[in-house]
Amino acid sequence: MSKTAPLTLSKLLGNFFALFVLFVISFIYYNVVHTFHDRYREPKIFLFLFIFHYLLFMLLWCFFRAMLTDPGVVPPLWGFYMGDSEQKRRRYCLMCHVFKPERSHHCSACNRCVLNMDHHCPWINNCVGFYNRKFFILLLVYVLISTTLITITLFPTVYASVKQIIEKRDIYAYKEAALFSAYLLNCLLNGVMFMFLKFHIKLIFTNITTIENMDKQNLPNLIVYNKGYKRNWIQVFGRNPWLWPFPMTGRSGKPVGDGVIWNDEVVQNFDEEIPANENEARRSSRLTGSGVAASRERLASPVRQGNSLEGTRKEFESTLDSSSRVKADSHHVGLLVSP
Ligand SMILES: [Zn+2]
Ligand SMILES: [Zn+2]
Repeated sequence: MSKTAPLTLSKLLGNFFALFVLFVISFIYYNVVHTFHDRYREPKIFLFLFIFHYLLFMLLWCFFRAMLTDPGVVPPLWGFYMGDSEQKRRRYCLMCHVFKPERSHHCSACNRCVLNMDHHCPWINNCVGFYNRKFFILLLVYVLISTTLITITLFPTVYASVKQIIEKRDIYAYKEAALFSAYLLNCLLNGVMFMFLKFHIKLIFTNITTIENMDKQNLPNLIVYNKGYKRNWIQVFGRNPWLWPFPMTGRSGKPVGDGVIWNDEVVQNFDEEIPANENEARRSSRLTGSGVAASRERLASPVRQGNSLEGTRKEFESTLDSSSRVKADSHHVGLLVSP
């Protein structure tokens, strides 16, 4: 399911935001390394530079994973199959012409519906959704740790250089001015990231997305997704604790469920042991007639009776009058700006 998102014009232009982020990272990186480049043989400085480069590597890894991973697309013809319950057909997107699964929303920047959409982040030029939320949170974590490390380590050097500028009144101290600017930018990022991460961790621990949090009054049933701290965390970060610090999922580190079905089948999967292979999982799901694997199979091999799928879709659209159209797309979500 996880794949590269389709490229649209708005996505193409949005890459400038991502380039700006990379420019800011490069600016801070240059000033940090330039400050210590002639002292790298000192054990303390060497250790700092080692940790700093490791954090930078992790940060960039998370950045590109969050940016390039598809947050989750609605399965083809979901809800259009004969026998599909009315529960699936409660919300319809007139932009994508798909039924919107629970917790999915249309993103105007990406011009598509996104599974378990959290928000559209212009800084990574991608939506944060079911499949890349972990990578986005990890990105925030690594930015926070890196900027905290820089804030503490560079303080004596920046303080000394600012003092020097003031005492000597040297208006041509470009290097010191650049270092001071980079330090200020770093401190600003640190403060913003702390608040932003605190907000997102709270959302994860209560199993709520940013959009749902903004629309709390109209969504009284949000409590049904909240399964306790541990399960909520596992739902986003996967079952394997060894993979939690890394922007990778593998088979054991995937978010729980499929982003489409949010009923008790997903809840049961929280405690389910991962079978030795997918076939075993499918076989056991088929025997019990439940589970996400079984649901996927039902979607993959629909029973087509009578009308064609395209006919069903057209029939549905023709029944929507102008007022119900507005209602059907009331969950259309515009560009949400995040720091
Ligand atoms: Zn849509
Ligand atoms: Zn988007």
